[in-house]
Amino acid sequence: MSDAETLFERIIAGEIPSEKVYEDETTYAFRDIAPQARVHVLVVPKKRYRNLADLASADPQLLADVAAAAKKVAELEGIAETGYRVVFNTDRDAGQTVFHVHAHVLGGEQLGHFGR
Ligand code: AMP
Repeated sequence: MSDAETLFERIIAGEIPSEKVYEDETTYAFRDIAPQARVHVLVVPKKRYRNLADLASADPQLLADVAAAAKKVAELEGIAETGYRVVFNTDRDAGQTVFHVHAHVLGGEQLGHFGR
């Protein structure tokens, strides 16, 4: 497995330090090392799937857990009322770099448009 596949497993295991925001039985959430907004937290299922499509096919309950954890993160970060964006980058054109599916939770300020 390449580093880009194992990075988040090593973070979840505590082998690589991270700033934890939330954790439950099936998910782990921590601050992005290169934040793209005032609040930028990654929500990662502890079990690894390559991307959103694989996760949705193989384990819809775990996908629901990730969505619930993203909501919890928004509440903990105080952005549930002001609004936030949840992004799953998938493969090349979206610029996915870590092939362990994760939700980006972005907010804490007015976000720009996205797309091209
Ligand atoms: P993506 O490009 O959607 O695959 O997102 C991967 C994200 O992981 C990027 O936003 C990176 O900034 C973030 N990242 C990479 N390494 C770390 C790390 N050690 N701790 C926290 N975030 C990281």
